[in-house]
Amino acid sequence: MTEFCPVLWPEEPTPEEQINCCKCGLNQHGSRMIWGEGNPEAPIMIILDNPGARENREGNSMVCGTRQTLQKAASEVGLTMDDLYVTFILKRRPVRAYDKERTRQTCMMHLDRQLEEKKPQLILCLGNVAAQSFFQDAGAEVKALRGTIHQVQGFPTAVGYHPLAVRRRPNLWSTFVEDWKLVAKHYQNKLS
Ligand code: SF4
Repeated sequence: MTEFCPVLWPEEPTPEEQINCCKCGLNQHGSRMIWGEGNPEAPIMIILDNPGARENREGNSMVCGTRQTLQKAASEVGLTMDDLYVTFILKRRPVRAYDKERTRQTCMMHLDRQLEEKKPQLILCLGNVAAQSFFQDAGAEVKALRGTIHQVQGFPTAVGYHPLAVRRRPNLWSTFVEDWKLVAKHYQNKLS
């Protein structure tokens, strides 16, 4: 058996007309825009709060902890990069305080466009922020939503903990994998 090894998934380029988006002001934080990564045509869309960094301070590519844990769980349930496209509520990483609610509401226009174009078969929202934004419910919590498939904006949607939460609290790992198993099972049932 080959050992799991995380790699930096290819980035889907930001559409030309959006590269200079400055609608919410987060562009002033200096982080670059990341539209999504993985397979842009994938049947399963993963939604995270923001992209984190794909490069270290010296500008070299790196696979951050969030990406490592996400990929490890996917691999554990037999899903590959071909099955998955990862995108974000915010397309830029905030580096200081900002108006969270307004920024999320504004940037969601890009996610709406992606959903319209990609029409994923299944969505997995990771973390409270992604769930609250996507479910349009400020009180949404992973704890209450995980373990079942919801219909949100017309898409079958599962919910799981944010990979960083799982790294901070290793006892969440088995729960995290259960949520990925639910996604894999739902996807495979659709195929059969
Ligand atoms: S965070 Fe989103 S809405 Fe704000 S400037 Fe970046 S791309 Fe535009």
